[in-house]
This record gives sequence, structure tokens and C-alpha cells, in this order.
Amino acid sequence: MKTEYRDLNLRRQRQDYGSDPLSVRKTDHYQAEYIQSFVSKWDRLIGWDLREESEGDFFIDILRRHGVKKILDAATGTGFHSIRLLKAGFDVVSADGSPEMLAKAFENGRRQGLILRTVQADWRWLNRDIHEQFDAILCLGNSFTHLFAENDRRRTLAEFYAALNHDGILILDQRNYDVILDQGYRSKHAYYYCGQDVKVEPEYVDEGLARFRYQFPDQSVFHLNMYPLRKQYTCRLLREVGFQKIKTYGDFQETYRHEDQDFFIHIASKQ
Ligand code: SAM
Repeated sequence: MKTEYRDLNLRRQRQDYGSDPLSVRKTDHYQAEYIQSFVSKWDRLIGWDLREESEGDFFIDILRRHGVKKILDAATGTGFHSIRLLKAGFDVVSADGSPEMLAKAFENGRRQGLILRTVQADWRWLNRDIHEQFDAILCLGNSFTHLFAENDRRRTLAEFYAALNHDGILILDQRNYDVILDQGYRSKHAYYYCGQDVKVEPEYVDEGLARFRYQFPDQSVFHLNMYPLRKQYTCRLLREVGFQKIKTYGDFQETYRHEDQDFFIHIASKQ
């Protein structure tokens, strides 16, 4: 094998955080984190059937209540929500910045008899690559946490805002980082990452970094370096870019005790 091919193959198999992984705090790094070998295991991590069971029709009900027809799934990943929403009859465009993720989503769709309309697009330049307006944009699965610079977060939300119709909604979720930062990590493992045989835990946390470790049954280990968003901070940013109403659910419930939740789901409305 030629050296370049061997290097390329290695890059597809192994994540590279260099000699000081805790110093890797860059928005662009998601491209290098979602390598083929990790992406091929992602569905094992999220456990589609259990995730579907735990979410129920939460998103479908909200989208119908808002009269949504056309959706941009901005963080498609391997296609979990795109596929559910296509099956439920919505018109869905599936975007993601990672070509590896999009390829896997397309394959997952095809296996279920669906052709996903995929677009590779980084959120920061969304409207450069996607020239359509949507009734709803989804940024789910704790994806917004990949943005490390405040400028990137503001810019992304402004791009989402601009791609929404006048009465559109943004549905964006996040881990409950407040609890992780203030009290330490615990999880019900009931939502999002429902795979029963995958060990997920933070390896390191400070106000600027949450480094999570994912260990699979074959002993392979991957990491994600993420920015630990505090809930009030996310709500403030949403308000500051122009969203008029923000309703936050805790683990899919309307009323909840802040410290008992694993995830928050924000519904931000333009009107
Ligand atoms: N929504 C999926 C789910 O719930 O399984 C995937 C979640 S995964 C944690 C985060 C996704 O966000 C990845 O597919 C990644 O490629 C994408 N992503 C991260 N930063 C991005 C950016 N700046 N622009 C576009 N996509 C990005």
C-alpha cells in the first residue's frame, strides 16, 4: 500500500487529538472526530428502537401543533430523526457538516426504502449551501455543543433564524451540563444514547470543555470534545439572535426538576 493511502486509512480509523487532547477546543474539530470507524458504531450508541420508544411522538406532536410541513434536519447524523419524520409524512432536507455521517444516513434511509435529500453544509455558512426556507429546523442529539467559539454559536443561530419562515421554529437540544459542571456526572441512560452495551462518560470537564469517552463492546474507544453549554446561556443566545419565545422541556417533560434532567430541549419561535 502506498504511504498516502495508508495514512488516509489510518485517519479514517483513528481519532487524532495530538499530544494534549484537553487543549483541543475548536469548532472545526468535529470533522476529524466523526471518522468512519466511529460513525459505523454510532447507531449502536444511540440504539434506534429504545430511542424511538423513549422519545415517543414528542417531536412529531410539537411539529404538527405548529403546522410544520417542511423541515431542515441540520444535524442529521446517521439519520434517526430525518427517517422518523419522513415516515411521518414531513418534507425533510437532511444536512450535516460531516460527509461520513451523511453517507451513513443515506444508507440507513435506503435500507428502509427511503431516499434522503442530503446536503453537506456547515451551520456557520448554512445559507450559502442551502437556498430554501423551512417551517422548522432541528439541531438535535446534543449537536450545538460542538461549537467552541461564542461567535460560531451566534453565527449558527443567526443562520438558522434566516433559513426559517416568518413563523418558523428552531428545536435545539443539549445535555444538562449545569449538573455535570456543578455536581458531577450521572445519567439515567434512558434518552438519546440508549445503546445498552456502550459505556458513555465524561473523562474531563471544566467551564470550557467536556471531553466524553465512548467505549464499545469490542473495547474500541472514541472521544468527543464538546463545549459545556449552560442552559440559561443557550436561552440567552437564542433570545439575542431574535427568537421571541423559548420553551424548554426537561427529558421531554413540560414540568421538571432542573437537576434531575439528562437533556433539555428548547423550542424557539420566531413569533
Ligand atoms: N442528530 C444526530 C443524532 O441525534 O444522532 C447526530 C448528533 S451528533 C452528536 C452531532 C452531529 O452534528 C454530527 O453529525 C456532526 O457532524 C454535526 N455537526 C457538528 N458541528 C457541525 C457544524 N459546525 N456544522 C454542521 N454539522 C455539524
